[in-house]
This record gives sequence, C-alpha cells and structure tokens, in this order.
Amino acid sequence: MRFCLLLTPRGRSRTFRSMPIYAESLTSAHRLFLTDHFPGDGCLLSQEGMAAFSADASQERAMPWAVVRPENRGQIEELLKWADSERMPIYGRARGTGRVGNAVPTHGGVVVSMLGMNRILDVDENDFVAVVQPGVVTGDLQAACIDRKMMYPPDPASVKYSTLGGNVSTCAGGLKAVKYGVTRDWVMGLESVLPGGKVLRTGGRSHKNVVGLDLTRLFVGSNGKLGLVTEIIVKLIPLPETSASVLVGFSDLRSSMDGARAVFRSGVLPAACEFMDKVTIQAVRQVGDVPLAANAQAALLFMVDGSEAGVEAEVRQLVTALNESSPVSVEIGRGKDEEKIWAVRRTISPAAFRIRPNKFAEDISVPRGTVAEAVERAHQIGEECGLIVLCFGHLGDGNIHVNIMHDASVPDEVVRACRAKDAVFRLAIELGGTISGEHGTGLTKASFVSEQLSQEEIGLMTSIKQVFDPNSIMNPGKGW
Ligand SMILES: Cc1cc2nc3c(=O)[nH]c(=O)nc-3n(C[C@H](O)[C@H](O)[C@H](O)COP(=O)(O)OP(=O)(O)OC[C@H]3O[C@@H](n4cnc5c(N)ncnc54)[C@H](O)[C@@H]3O)c2cc1C
Repeated sequence: MRFCLLLTPRGRSRTFRSMPIYAESLTSAHRLFLTDHFPGDGCLLSQEGMAAFSADASQERAMPWAVVRPENRGQIEELLKWADSERMPIYGRARGTGRVGNAVPTHGGVVVSMLGMNRILDVDENDFVAVVQPGVVTGDLQAACIDRKMMYPPDPASVKYSTLGGNVSTCAGGLKAVKYGVTRDWVMGLESVLPGGKVLRTGGRSHKNVVGLDLTRLFVGSNGKLGLVTEIIVKLIPLPETSASVLVGFSDLRSSMDGARAVFRSGVLPAACEFMDKVTIQAVRQVGDVPLAANAQAALLFMVDGSEAGVEAEVRQLVTALNESSPVSVEIGRGKDEEKIWAVRRTISPAAFRIRPNKFAEDISVPRGTVAEAVERAHQIGEECGLIVLCFGHLGDGNIHVNIMHDASVPDEVVRACRAKDAVFRLAIELGGTISGEHGTGLTKASFVSEQLSQEEIGLMTSIKQVFDPNSIMNPGKGW
C-alpha cells in the first residue's frame, strides 16, 4: 500500500493511501456466481428491479450492478469472500431511510438488502436482552418488548420503518436520547461478517464487559464500512409505568432556553425535551389547531416517564421551574391526551412544505448552552441567502434540525440553499458542535468531514478501516 500527500478541497493537507482498485463491471462469471448463490428473486439484475435500491431518503441516486437478498449468514460469508477476491464494491442496505446517501451504491457493485434477515430471535426477561437479526424493524422489536413489560428505548422518528441493522450502522438517535441515550448505548453485542467472509462476534449478553477494546462500539455508526452486521444483542430495561407530556409556549426563543435550563437545574431529567422556533410554529399553525397561546414565538415540548406517582411529581416540579421564565401557555397531556401534544411535533415536516416545496433537512448538534445562538444565526444565514430557515429539534441533546426551505426547480434558489447549508455546517463547527447529530455524513456531507475531524482522526479511522477491509470494498465513496 503506497501513501501520498494530497490537498483536500478545503486546502488542508492529508495523507491518503493509494486509490483502491475495483471491478469495473459485472462479468458473466460474476453474474453466474450471484445467481447460483442467490437463486430465484434472491438476485436482481434488471434495471427495473434494481431501481428501488439505487436511492435512499436523501434522494441521492446511483444504480448498482446487482442486488442480492440473503436469508442467512452463510450466504453473506460466501458473498464477502467472493467480493473481496473480485474487488467488488459492497453496499449493505436495509429500509433506505437514511438521509445522507449512505446506502447509495456510488461505485456500482452489489447492494446487499438485509431485509430477508428479519427475525426476532429472543426477548429475554431474565437477562433483559433481545437478540435480533438486522432486518427487524425497530418498532416491531419495541412492540415485542412492551408485550413483556420491557423497553428498548432508542426511538428515531423513523422507528416504524427503519431497522435495527440500519439503526446500529448509523447509531440512530431519537426523541428520548436526552434521558436514554442513542443506539450506541444499547448495543451489547454483534455478529458481523467481514470482507473475506470471516465471522466476528463481539460483546455478548453480559451487561458489563471491560475486557479489551470495545469492538462492538466500533461497529456502531460505522455505516457498513467495516462489515455486514448479521445479529444484534441489545439491552432492555423495565417498561416505565406511565408518561405525561407538557407543551409550553414562550414569547421568545431566549425565554424558552431559560425555561429548559430551569427544568434541568430543578433536577428533572425529561425523557424528551424538544423545541420549536417561531417559523416552525407559524408553519404548524397553517395545518391545524395548535395548543399554544396565540402570542407564542417559541415552544418547548417535554415528556417525563416513570411510576404514576413519580410522573405526577415531575410534572409539578417541571411546571414550577418553568414559571421563572414566564411561559405564555402550558398544556399538560396525560394518557390519551399526550397524543394531541405530540401531533404538533409530527406535523412539522408536512407543514414545512407549505413554505417551499423542497428543503435541506440538516441535523447539526451544538453544545446545549449555545442552541439559542445557533438558531438565531441560522435565521440570519437564511435572511442573507434570501431563504426561510426553520429550526426545531432535540434541545436536550443540542441537536437542531435546520430546515433550509427552497424550490429545487429555481436554479438560483438551489445555489443560495447550498450556500446557506455550507454556512450552517461551519456555524456548527465554530460553536464547538458537529455537522451531524444523528444522520451521519454519507454523500451529502462528505466534503465537510475534513473540516470537523482532524487529519490525525481521519488517518486513524482510515487505518482502522483497513484492518477490517484491506481492499476497501465496503461502502466505498462515503465520507472518510
Ligand atoms: C422520516 C424520517 C425520520 C428520521 N428520523 C430519524 C431520527 O429521529 N433519528 C435518526 O438517527 N435518524 C433518523 N432518520 C434517518 C434514518 O431513519 C436512520 O439513519 C436509520 O437508522 C436508517 O435505517 P435503515 O434501516 O433505513 O437503513 P438504511 O438507510 O438502509 O442504511 C443506513 C446505513 O446502514 C448500513 N446498513 C444497513 N444495514 C446494515 C447491516 N446489516 N450491516 C452493515 N451495514 C448496514 C447501510 O449501508 C447504510 O450505510 C430519519 C429518516 C426519515 C426518512
């Protein structure tokens, strides 16, 4: 392997290994291998059949040369042994709900749909663990746990569609991350197949394990760049008895941030702590009734969970703490009424499209104390670019969804939206934050990775990838 020094697009020098060499097309021998090992509709080769596997929710698109649908680990072992020797690019894929193009086959190659491996293998009330195949939809696992009075907390907004394999590979976060953490915090063990076909098992069913380096965590968030995950062991906890939610309106953004700070300082750790800026509130008002005072210019949305008595006490404590910041309205939802409150949050995405038909939905994360500044400056960036910017998100994690609204059919608007997006990423980095809190970098943010990560960090990550994937066949063309 040779090394050379290159200048990145943004002018920082970086050490690169020589470019990997890939198969240039699918030969008849390749086709034979794939159709032999994935008989029937286990292998797709037609353009129509493969089209659905060419894009994800980012709407980035590239056609693969073949799609395979394994049903067991053995097939994946054979596939990765063959792919490594043929230098065939391999793209793991689940439900394709990723927002940054991570599952898009930029170098042709073979897309491996993991949806055929979708069995919940075990939900164990003694060990408090679940064992699943990667194609299990996360909401289905949650339901199976609830039936046994247990909880798997990670709850990306895509929970009803996205899979455990996708969530593990992207380290998905969600509404309840402020109290329960993200996917990384719940994965106890993995089985993966590496390029070359070797099976690697890391971690296990033991809730504590400090022997050696944490290879399980290395795989979480690795976006299919180290190997294909074939089995996942996650941690479970007892299901909270109940929950309640509180929607609070404020006259301005700064007061809402003061309100959130007062709640945390009072000792309450909410299960969810969301915020909406004034543009978001205006948008959701256009599509229905919103239980917020007419003069609300910012809003917070809390959920607390636990025992009946504990939740009641926390709601009281939370409302008292909020009083210091003079909210203009407080709406409490218990039981079925909680739904009314969360409906407001769920309306944001469809409501945003009333502003403009397209959006860049970015997910920067900043230190929690700088959220107000980040939101104000994001609005300023929008004004400078002549565009509406709408901010909402997981305040408890400093994770802001910055939506840059535009019309993709107007070329000048697209140019200005891209300029705004670049400025928002730079703002996140300047404030000590990150260009992605949960979606990852994939294709759409790839050029910014070298602005956030140091040369040393990228060099180490590249070296680690090389240990697992010396021929760089796994998900090439993405980020680092
Ligand atoms: C409406 C909507 C709401 C969303 N809300 C959230 C949110 O709240 N929080 C959040 O974090 N994300 C969110 N997302 C993004 C997306 O749902 C997550 O990134 C999710 O984890 C992707 O899961 P998937 O099953 O669709 O995986 P895919 O998109 O198919 O794949 C994602 C990545 O995982 C890799 N991969 C998949 N399976 C495997 C495997 N078995 N082995 C190795 N690699 C694999 C792929 O190669 C790819 O790099 C949202 C997306 C949408 C469309």
